[in-house]
Amino acid sequence: MRKYVIIGVQGSGKGTQSGLLAADLDLVHIAVGDIFRWNVQHHTKLGAQVRRTMAAGLLVGDDLVEGVVRDRLAEHDWNYGFIIDGFPRNERQAEFFLESYDIDGVIHLDLPDTEVRRRVLARRLCSGCGMDYNLLASSPHSPGQCDVCGATLITREDDTEDALAVRLREYHEKTNPVLAIFRRKEYVLTVDATPAVAEIQQQIRKRLDLPAYRPPPGS
Ligand SMILES: [Zn+2]
Repeated sequence: MRKYVIIGVQGSGKGTQSGLLAADLDLVHIAVGDIFRWNVQHHTKLGAQVRRTMAAGLLVGDDLVEGVVRDRLAEHDWNYGFIIDGFPRNERQAEFFLESYDIDGVIHLDLPDTEVRRRVLARRLCSGCGMDYNLLASSPHSPGQCDVCGATLITREDDTEDALAVRLREYHEKTNPVLAIFRRKEYVLTVDATPAVAEIQQQIRKRLDLPAYRPPPGS
């Protein structure tokens, strides 16, 4: 059984790295952001709360996050372990987490704010089918138009310079104390999140004493 926490600012590739690790090791990938997005899309009561918060450029409240994680872990469908993304967000949650589960490692993806800005502000979303684009990595064939459905690409309402500055400040204020708690227990491995996906994954495996990552052929 392997239990990991992954911590990184948005745009650091947390989702991608967790996904690769989860697929290979049969871990359940618990992404708090995805759970919230699902609720927004399906217009649940929780979703409405989340939508209001994100429109204001703020992070979703700690109590909401905690409830979602607790419910998810209580399902106990993680036979080989889990990798949790988007939790804990503050000292209290970190302490609760350490008391409730013995974790095997905290993966900290480190990305400078300047690089976060560059990556996040290049994100676009199709107004028709909802497909994600990043102009740095996957530009559409015709500028400003979705390859799949031809609709106009737009910027998410929370991907503005101002909203991002608020999120970055909140991220550091909340994350630094959490990292400090995990560091005291010597759980934290900090990995540089600037290189290519495969290289970052390789670093994570090495630091966690896991079998090396074999990228699929052709990638
Ligand atoms: Zn589209």
